[in-house]
Amino acid sequence: MKGLVLYERGKTEIREVQKPECGDRDILIKVESAAICGGDVHFYNGALPCLGEYPIILGHEFAGTIAKMGPHADTYWNVGDRVISENTASVCGRCPACEKGNFVNCPERETLGCSVDGAFTQYVKIPGDLLAVYPNCLFRLPEEIPMETAPLLEPAANAYMAVVQEGQMMPGENVVVFGAGALGLFSVQMAKIAGAAKIILIGMPSDEESRFPCGRKLGATHTIINGEGVDLAAEVDKICGMSGAALCIDAAGAPAVLKQAVEIVRNDGIVVRIGMNDKPYGYGMNEVNVKSVSITGHMGYNTTSWRNVISLAAAGKLDLASLVSHRLPLSQIKHGFELLKDQTAIKIVIDPDN
Ligand SMILES: [Zn+2]
Ligand SMILES: [Zn+2]
Repeated sequence: MKGLVLYERGKTEIREVQKPECGDRDILIKVESAAICGGDVHFYNGALPCLGEYPIILGHEFAGTIAKMGPHADTYWNVGDRVISENTASVCGRCPACEKGNFVNCPERETLGCSVDGAFTQYVKIPGDLLAVYPNCLFRLPEEIPMETAPLLEPAANAYMAVVQEGQMMPGENVVVFGAGALGLFSVQMAKIAGAAKIILIGMPSDEESRFPCGRKLGATHTIINGEGVDLAAEVDKICGMSGAALCIDAAGAPAVLKQAVEIVRNDGIVVRIGMNDKPYGYGMNEVNVKSVSITGHMGYNTTSWRNVISLAAAGKLDLASLVSHRLPLSQIKHGFELLKDQTAIKIVIDPDN
């Protein structure tokens, strides 16, 4: 089978790779559909090193069918089941994070497509050792959710965690979202689903063409370009009035954005930082205390986030399809990365069989 292999920092190529062996308790998934994540772009352009050992097959947002099960695999599952994986490859099962079911925060966690072989190929192995401690690392995919858009449940689960679980948004509150990439757009949609009054999406001039229209379709009541001479705090004030913005989602990650988010959010408000950026911040943080702002570092999701986004999508209340801007065969995946680099694409879905 073919796979997109990260073989050195910032170096990828399509290679012939080994189909994984299915051990005694393992489950082998035939990948039917995968999506490129913003994180994959960091691996692709070298901003992030492989989190395990080179070479690895990239890809952590994927759905498929169970192709094979080891003789002692979890009998809850059957060959042919439609499934979505939350991309964990292993956890310790014993640390305080695992104890609470926050497996994404396990310091020992290995991730499919980030530290071990992932899904930009035809088959992925879900280890039996993992299923033994964390059976919900695999979810049944309801018939109502097409295979093609199912990988987008992963960023949707992230946004659910950020807006609802970490952001604690209540119906009637106003929400500001920085960044109009997939996580920003899903955050807009989650705020809409959770009943936000005003949803302000803040982006770059390049977002005007495709990302802002998508954001408005998904629930943004206002869109603002974050540029020279724009007084964001005044704009947000005008829109939100005395209630202010209870929640700011930073799905951009630039140092300047966190400062703006703290300025914009109301006293006692919450800022959830989803975006990442290594650059030094270079400014004081006293306003965080003065305004009693809570800043939450966001990483991933938990079983509750997954369960609920799957239910929303199956009920027709979560729009995945509108975020798919391109569909490409695996053979053209590198073109997909280029499209994401220039920030015009939103989500690119990959067909692993072509
Ligand atoms: Zn992702
Ligand atoms: Zn652990």
